[in-house]
Amino acid sequence: MQFDVVTLQPSAFAGPLDEGVFGRGRRSGAVTVRVHDLRRFGVGPHRSVDDVPYGGGAGMVLRPEPPVRAVRWVRERYPASRDRVVAMSPQGKRFDQSLVERAVEWERIVFLCGRYEGIDERVRELVVDEEWSLGDFVLSGGELAAMAMMDAIARFVPGVLGNERSAEEDSFRRGGLDHPHYTRPRVFEGLEVPGPLLGGDHAAIRRWRLEAAKRGTRMKRPDLESGEEFGDDLDSNAR
Ligand code: SAH
Repeated sequence: MQFDVVTLQPSAFAGPLDEGVFGRGRRSGAVTVRVHDLRRFGVGPHRSVDDVPYGGGAGMVLRPEPPVRAVRWVRERYPASRDRVVAMSPQGKRFDQSLVERAVEWERIVFLCGRYEGIDERVRELVVDEEWSLGDFVLSGGELAAMAMMDAIARFVPGVLGNERSAEEDSFRRGGLDHPHYTRPRVFEGLEVPGPLLGGDHAAIRRWRLEAAKRGTRMKRPDLESGEEFGDDLDSNAR
């Protein structure tokens, strides 16, 4: 899976994407990230990237030339067949597990990160395939949203999580939430690890986890509790 990021703040991507599961995915070659400085595609000797809004009002707007040039340059320089240009926007489709599973089938995603009051609307018409939102709130830039999305997608790229565990049992994968997790000590500040987890009866452990996952979903996220898929399916996959 290849990610190309177009941003005014390339330095934001050093650090979070170098470590942990994502960092390992990059080092193994399963995930590639290229970060492109939008400023390089700025207009004129000052490499201008923003201007005042037509119609007046507060703040600046990202002018259309730099993002359009940047996206076209990336697509020419790094051609990919199953390819999407995704703009970060609070007005986009709310990012969720179904988007993750769709995106992981693509070969490459170009993430376009906005700043200021947003990006000139014509960019969307000219080079953007989809708009995605991290949630119903406004961030000051698309960088954190793009990082969160890349991380979530990378977990489903084969070879990134490795054999030691899979994303199959995680929350949302089958509609509901994951079961609770415990590790040592067996008793902590008077609270005991649930009995079935202490024995070696794998069927009993599976049953307990399934029930606990259902109970947790009902309690914390009743809105997720609709699907048929959640239930028997979890049972058969929890092995
Ligand atoms: N005026 C715009 C918000 C601009 S915020 C509006 O109200 O719709 C500046 C940039 O931050 C946006 O261009 C976008 O790239 C990014 N951004 C802000 N909120 C976001 C969100 N919830 N999800 C993804 N990107 C977001």
